[in-house]
Amino acid sequence: MTATDELRRFLEDRLPAFRDQWGEQPGFEGKLAWQRIMQQERWVAPQWAEQHGGRGLDVVESLACSELLAQYRAPGVAGIFGVANVGPTIAQWGTEEQRRHLPAILAGDEIWCQGFSEPGAGSDLAGLQTRAVLGGDEFVIDGQKIWTSDGMRASHMELLVRTDPWAPKHRGISALLIPLDTPGIERRPIRQITGESEFAEVFFTGVRVPADSLLGPLNEGWKVTMTTLSHERTGVVSHASAVQREVEATVDALRFDRTGRQLPPMLQDELVRRWVEGRVVGILGQRSLESIRATGEPGPEQSIIKLEWSLFTQRLARTRLALGGLGAVAGPDEEAMTAYLSARSSTIAGGTTEVMKNIIADRVLGLPR
Ligand SMILES: Cc1cc2nc3c(=O)[nH]c(=O)nc-3n(C[C@H](O)[C@H](O)[C@H](O)COP(=O)(O)OP(=O)(O)OC[C@H]3O[C@@H](n4cnc5c(N)ncnc54)[C@H](O)[C@@H]3O)c2cc1C
Repeated sequence: MTATDELRRFLEDRLPAFRDQWGEQPGFEGKLAWQRIMQQERWVAPQWAEQHGGRGLDVVESLACSELLAQYRAPGVAGIFGVANVGPTIAQWGTEEQRRHLPAILAGDEIWCQGFSEPGAGSDLAGLQTRAVLGGDEFVIDGQKIWTSDGMRASHMELLVRTDPWAPKHRGISALLIPLDTPGIERRPIRQITGESEFAEVFFTGVRVPADSLLGPLNEGWKVTMTTLSHERTGVVSHASAVQREVEATVDALRFDRTGRQLPPMLQDELVRRWVEGRVVGILGQRSLESIRATGEPGPEQSIIKLEWSLFTQRLARTRLALGGLGAVAGPDEEAMTAYLSARSSTIAGGTTEVMKNIIADRVLGLPR
């Protein structure tokens, strides 16, 4: 039996009961429950090595599994930043001792976040100022992080710090793995326009962590960061290939109004436009997945996908809101309003529109600076 056959059987067996209990769009607790169910049979990250809790699948098999999960519209997992980005970075750069975090990440026993951005360092991440001074067998950390996704829920953080303030800015950075219950760390939730608080600001005042918290070599944290970010970007590609199915389902659901009547032609046009745009993103995603299968790299399509996917997400949310009319603005279709408001962040997270355009101009089109 192939891995996808096995996964299909697992999903058919376990998803209906899960949905009965948690619904179609579970929150954090539901996603954590789903992660635990998935990990009973090692489906959270089947591409990870067996000793770390995976199944050791190759890239082709694991991408086929991701596509199947998208096809079944399976929920995401709760500890997504650990599973998708930090875990693979620990697997690549970590010591044996640090790799002990990996099974706990898959099991949902440790929830990780990424402490990269600061109030003065977002797009220009290498300008980060949070300091860590190595003295004897510990680092002492002072500074602030912001926009830390899952920062209030996380138990651990991959933290970027400046360990050599005199070196050129990309060379004086180090990565640390730290538990967030260490004394001197204060977390404050950031309230979003949707009313949720998925981010935190995290303050470090004289925080002491052991020297063996260092991930990768001292002052070479930029390379470690690039590993984490490249996993984050590959995640966008899988997302894009799932988009097509999402769009088809949304367009299907919106084709008729609440009373079952067909929409007026103007609104139908709007829906057709979204459908075509969704297909374009889906095709770009498929092309990039082919490139990953062939070369192990997502290819230049990746930055185009990020740009197109983020703009498309905002347009789709706007269309959904427009079609929902008053019901979407003042309830009962609250979901459409929340989707519209949260889509605003898609053109900022993981590289802003302007930064993506710079990357496409420079690295894809080779335009002069
Ligand atoms: C949903 C979401 C989740 C996030 N999660 C995390 C997380 O978990 N951990 C974390 O560390 N951070 C996270 N972030 C922060 C994110 O990485 C930053 O917001 C992003 O890198 C942009 O940085 P900034 O907000 O400081 O904006 P800035 O970099 O200050 O940009 C401000 C404006 O200037 C423009 N700009 C900047 N540089 C250039 C340039 N060279 N050329 C042209 N225009 C430019 C930008 O496009 C933007 O319009 C998250 C953000 C969002 C929205």
